[in-house]
Amino acid sequence: MEKKNNPSAALSERIKFFEEIGADFIFKPEPRPRPAAPAQTPGPEHPPRVSEARPVFADASEMPKNSGPDGESGLDLPRINRTLEEIAAEVRSCRKCGLAAGRTKAVPGEGNPKAQLLFVGEGPGHDEDVQGRPFVGRAGQLLTKIIAAMGYDRSDVFIANVVKCRPPENRVPRREEAEACAPYLLGQIAVLRPRVIVTLGKTAVDFFLPDVKAMGSIRGIFQEWHGVPLMPTFHPSYLVRNEGNKDIKRMVWNDMQKVMAFLRGE
Ligand code: URA
Ligand code: SF4
Repeated sequence: MEKKNNPSAALSERIKFFEEIGADFIFKPEPRPRPAAPAQTPGPEHPPRVSEARPVFADASEMPKNSGPDGESGLDLPRINRTLEEIAAEVRSCRKCGLAAGRTKAVPGEGNPKAQLLFVGEGPGHDEDVQGRPFVGRAGQLLTKIIAAMGYDRSDVFIANVVKCRPPENRVPRREEAEACAPYLLGQIAVLRPRVIVTLGKTAVDFFLPDVKAMGSIRGIFQEWHGVPLMPTFHPSYLVRNEGNKDIKRMVWNDMQKVMAFLRGE
């Protein structure tokens, strides 16, 4: 959006975020050039359902091949012959679960169709439900700052949620709702083929790694999901709720630095 053509605004966002986390140790990352995604070949119409998670990478040498910014996604799900826009259109008219009844607008997700970096949150809140766009409320503004601090713009990455319609009172989505909605997120991933997935909060972790008991045990440690490194971190609303707590922000920032290093091919 506006920041795309205004590098100084992006830079000042980044500096503000650094100041907020009291980060005197942080270097200033250079925005990465965005390579073109490999050509898509037609495949089956529907992605397979989520399967089991595999164990965490023992060390960096076990990470999927990552030859630098031009590296391809390690995703081992088949390509599907659909576009993100087609999936979004289906979401907007979907009534597969009870959340359809309470929504103003469905929130399919948005971003660059060639994004290498995918953020996955829980589900739309009030502002997202009104606008039909992900992460535009208070937590979303913080996520936008984190993305800017990483040297990217929102339009460089892709942002999606586990459920695409707002749960009443922002409650955690029920298992049957997340399951009904799963084909959309899986389809988005199969089309996008990100190199890294960042999960925001426990609901997003549960989608990918259903056996994980506690966030604390995996936060900040690359996991593997279908050949793609997955970085679990805190949900930005947790940061908003603990606004004065620099330790939490610092942890999230450390997690994002690992993601940036991976994307740089380090
Ligand atoms: N919280 C989420 O998990 N997703 C959004 O899109 C907004 C807030
Ligand atoms: Fe459909 Fe997902 Fe919305 Fe449920 S939450 S109605 S499955 S788009």
